[in-house]
Amino acid sequence: MPLNTSSNMHKYEPANQHESEAKDALPTHQIPRKLDDANGAIELQKRSLQMNHSKEGPLTTPGEPGKELRVFYTGGRGMALPCHRTRTEKYLIALSFLLFCACIAFVVIAFARHKKTDVSSVCLSEHCVRTAAQLLDSIDHKADPCDDFFQYACGSWNKKHIIPEDKSSYNTFEKLHDELQVKLKRLLEEPVSDYDTNATVKAKILYTSCVNTSRIEETGDVPINAVLRKFGGWPVVVGNQWENSGWRLETVLGTLRRVYNAPLIIDTWVSADDKDSNTNILQLDQPSLGMPSREYYLKEKERTYKDAYLTYMVNVARLLGANESYARHEMAEVLAFEVELAKVTTPQAERHDTGAMYAKMSVGELQERVPEIDWLQYFNTFMSTPVNSTELLVSFGMKYLKAMAKLVRKQTDRVLANYLLWRLVLGLVPEMTERYQRERNEYRRVLQGVSREKVRWQKCVEYVNERMGMAVGRLFVRDNFDVESKHMALEMIHNIREAFTEILEDSDWMDDATKGVAKEKANTINERIGYPEFILDQAELDKLYLGLEFDADSYFENILKVEMHDSLKNLAKLRHPVQKEKWEQDPAVVNAFYNPNMNDIVFPAGILQSLFYSAHFPKSLNYGGIGVVIGHEITHGFDDKGRQYDKNGNLRQWWNNNTILAFRKRAQCIVDQYSNYKLEPFGLQIDGKNTQGENIADNGGLKESFRAYRKWVDRNGEEPPLPGMNLTHNQLFFLNYAQIWCGIMRGEEALHKVRTSVHSPGPIRVLGPLSNSPNFSKAYNCPLGSRMNPHHKCAVW
Ligand SMILES: [Zn+2]
Repeated sequence: MPLNTSSNMHKYEPANQHESEAKDALPTHQIPRKLDDANGAIELQKRSLQMNHSKEGPLTTPGEPGKELRVFYTGGRGMALPCHRTRTEKYLIALSFLLFCACIAFVVIAFARHKKTDVSSVCLSEHCVRTAAQLLDSIDHKADPCDDFFQYACGSWNKKHIIPEDKSSYNTFEKLHDELQVKLKRLLEEPVSDYDTNATVKAKILYTSCVNTSRIEETGDVPINAVLRKFGGWPVVVGNQWENSGWRLETVLGTLRRVYNAPLIIDTWVSADDKDSNTNILQLDQPSLGMPSREYYLKEKERTYKDAYLTYMVNVARLLGANESYARHEMAEVLAFEVELAKVTTPQAERHDTGAMYAKMSVGELQERVPEIDWLQYFNTFMSTPVNSTELLVSFGMKYLKAMAKLVRKQTDRVLANYLLWRLVLGLVPEMTERYQRERNEYRRVLQGVSREKVRWQKCVEYVNERMGMAVGRLFVRDNFDVESKHMALEMIHNIREAFTEILEDSDWMDDATKGVAKEKANTINERIGYPEFILDQAELDKLYLGLEFDADSYFENILKVEMHDSLKNLAKLRHPVQKEKWEQDPAVVNAFYNPNMNDIVFPAGILQSLFYSAHFPKSLNYGGIGVVIGHEITHGFDDKGRQYDKNGNLRQWWNNNTILAFRKRAQCIVDQYSNYKLEPFGLQIDGKNTQGENIADNGGLKESFRAYRKWVDRNGEEPPLPGMNLTHNQLFFLNYAQIWCGIMRGEEALHKVRTSVHSPGPIRVLGPLSNSPNFSKAYNCPLGSRMNPHHKCAVW
C-alpha cells in the first residue's frame, strides 16, 4: 500500500525497499554482542598481553622472577646457613639480598609499565584476530587507498558477493537485514509462550496468514473484487456497466484515505505542526505516484519504464476480468493523466526549504485558493472529528494543489475512477495470488532488474515487522539487546555531541549569538537507544493494537484491517497534543533517525551490532562505525533543513542573516562538489542539491566522530594494533567507516537511487566525506592533489 509520506524523519540509509511500491520501507537487522565494561579497549589490551606472555595475568613478568625469588629463599634455607658467620658477613649477605630484591622489583615494575604503554604489542585475542580477518576479507590490496578508497576498502567484498535474483542491490545493510530476518522468522514461528502478549500473538497470526499461500490461492480474487465493488467496480473491468451518477471525487478520495490508508492525488495526514511542535494539525502535500518518481514519467528516453508500467496495468486489469484491447485503451488514458499529474508536482530537489513550502491557513482559505475541490466534503469523508471552515491546516504543496485541481476538473469521472482504483489495486497486488505476482515480477524486472520474487517467509517477516514493529520488537529485544550496549551508546553520544559543540565553537563563520543557540540545541537533543520501554509493559503494548483482530485464514482481509487501523490511528491524533515522549521507530531495524519536530535522535536495537558496533571491537572501529552514525544524526539538526528548527522542534528563524548566508555558501560547496560526482560504472550524475542534507550529515558525522575518538585516545592511550593488518587505528577508523558502504547494485537500481533518494549511493558516501577530511589524508598519507586528497575541500561543520 502507499505508505504515509508524512514523516519529516531522517533515516541513515533508505536501503532495501520492501516493495517497489512502498517507497519508504525500512531496512533492518542485528547481531547482539555482550559488552565488557565501558572501557572495552583496555580490557582488550590486557587480554592480548595475557596471550603473549603468561597465563597468570598481565602483571606477571616473564622469566618467572617469582620462582627465582622462591629459589633464593629455598636455596637459602637449603644451604643451612652456618651460624658462625661474622657480623660483617651477615650484614653483607643481608645487604646483597636486599639489593637483589630491589633489582627484581625494579624489573617487575619496569616490565609492567612497559606492558601498559607499549602499543607495539599486537592484540592477539580471538576477537582481535576475528575482527582483523573480517576487515581484511573485504579489502582490495591492489587498489590505491589515495586514489579510490571505496575500491580499496570494499573491492574484495564486492567481488565476493553477487546480487541475489530477488534484489536490485546487495550491500552491508542488506546483508545485516537478511540476517535479522532469519532471527525474526524464528521468533514469529515460535509457539505462543508466557512472554507473548495479545500484541505479539496478533503479530504471529498475521505472519501465519501471510505464509499460508495455499489458503491465499484458494481465496483467489474474491476479496479484491469485494473491495472494488464498494467503489461501484473498476470501470476498466466492468465496462459499460460502470455508473458515474453517484460518483464524487471528494468522497472517493476521502474513502481511499480513511479506509485504505491510500492518500491518492492529495497526500493528507495529521502530525505535529512544524511551527508549533506541541500541536497536531492537518497537513497536505503532493502525493506519491505509481512509478517511483516524476522523472520516470517525464524523461522522454524512459519510454521503457512507461511501457512496462502500462503493460502491468493492462495485464492486472485483464486478470481481474477486463477485455484486453479495451483495457489497453483505458489504461493508456490513465497513464496520460498520471503523466500530467507528474508534471505539476515539484521535483524533490526543489523541496528543501521547508520554511518556504510551509503555508498555514484555514480550510475556508484553502477553499478560496483552490476552489475546484470541495474541501469540507473531502475532509469530512475521512476525519473522525468534524471539520469546519475554520479548521487550520498546513500545506507544503500549494503550487501543486492549485494545478492539480484544475487538471482533475478537466478529466472525466471515468478516467479519474480508473486511475484511483488502479492505484489502489497497485498497492494491493503484492498481497494477491500467484498469477498477479507473475505480472508484478515482469514489471519489476524492467524497473529494478529483479528476476525473482522474494521468498515468501521473508516477505512476510518484513511485512509484519514493518506494520507491527513494536510487537515484533518485544520478541526481538528479549534475546538480542544488552542493556550495556545502551550505556556504551550513551557514552559515545555524549563524546560525539561534545566534539560537535567544539567544532561549533571553533567555526569562524558563525556569529556568537547563533553559536550560543546552536550549542543549546545540540545539548537539548534527546537520545533514544534500543527500544521504547513500553514494549516490555504488556498492557501498554497491547493498547497499540487495540481493535485489530486477525484471522489466520484471511490474509487479504488482515492486510486491509492493518491499513484502516493505521489510518484511523493517525487521523485520531487531531485535537490531541503531540506526545513528545512517544517513540515511534521500530526496534528491529538497521537504521538510525533524527526527528526535527522532536529534536531527537534514535538508534534502534537493530543497528547496535557489528559492523557498526561490537563490545569486542577496538574503539577505533566503533567510532568509525556507530560513532559516525551518531555524528550523522546529530548533524541533521544543523543541515539545510534541520537548521531551520529550534531546540523545541519549531520551524523558526533563529539564525542571524549573515550566518545564514555563510551557511548557504558552505552548503553550496557541498552541492557543487557532489554534483560533479558520477556513480560508476553507470555514469550517472549525482543530484547534489537533493542529497545535500545527507551529505552535510555524512561529512559532519565523520569529522565529529574522529575528533571524539582522538579525545578518547588522549584519555585512555593508543590501542594495540590488530594482527596482520599493519594499519594504525586512525586508519582503521576510516576503513570501518568505508566498509559499512560495501555493496553492489544493478543499473536499474542505480538509476532509481540517483533519481529518488536523498542519500548518495554507497561509493559516493565514501568518496565525498573522506576526500574532504584532512584527518583521512593524514592517516593514509595521501599526497595533496590525489583523488582522495583534492586541493579543494568542502566543510559545513
Ligand atoms: Zn541522514
